[in-house]
Amino acid sequence: MKHWIKFGSKQIDFSLEYAERRSLGIKVHPDGSVEVLAPVDAKETEIIDEVRRKAPWILKQQDHFSDYVRMAAPRRFISGETHLLLGRQYRLKVIADNQDTIKAYRGQIWMYSRNTKPETLKKRLNVWYKDKALSIFNELLEEVFPKFKRYKIARPPLTIRTMTSRWGSCTPLGRIILNIDLIKTPKGCIEYVITHELCHLVYHHHGKPFQELLDKMMPDRRKWKEKLEYCLI
Ligand SMILES: [Zn+2]
Repeated sequence: MKHWIKFGSKQIDFSLEYAERRSLGIKVHPDGSVEVLAPVDAKETEIIDEVRRKAPWILKQQDHFSDYVRMAAPRRFISGETHLLLGRQYRLKVIADNQDTIKAYRGQIWMYSRNTKPETLKKRLNVWYKDKALSIFNELLEEVFPKFKRYKIARPPLTIRTMTSRWGSCTPLGRIILNIDLIKTPKGCIEYVITHELCHLVYHHHGKPFQELLDKMMPDRRKWKEKLEYCLI
């Protein structure tokens, strides 16, 4: 069901679903879409009031995300264009060459390429991002995982995927799935998502014990969460 509220000069569109739950949940997805989950017995006017009360928060989240959405905006793969890596902006520099290499330094991504067609550059850059993601995500998991020693969870295998509505998730069998676009966000954000998912291997919910564990494992997590936040429970 599609709904909307007016807040000042802004309009907030949201989808509404009813679920077996006690309070209203609002999620702002990285693409800016808003999803409201309401208890089955909630009245529509109450829901609208609550969404309006949370409007400043929703707009703030959409704003936070817009940086990352902008980063996902269509690229033309030409010199001078901005691309992100670990929260930093790099200018793309395309250089025709007789071999294919990509290097990021001094604020630039240097792309030496035999073929400078945008589709080719796009594919090569995606492979490069995926390689970076694989090594950096695994490195960070290696750093964070030992903190969980006493919880006796197995070191989870990592999968990197293109995901449109979340930054990470985990499977009941203990595999952690991370959004490839996380490689474009600061390391602290990636660490936060990994820590969050590791906590889920201990607690399969977002309840108090989960929150306490997350606080213990990453005391400054709120700062990073705020950069990525999409889920208000
Ligand atoms: Zn979670």
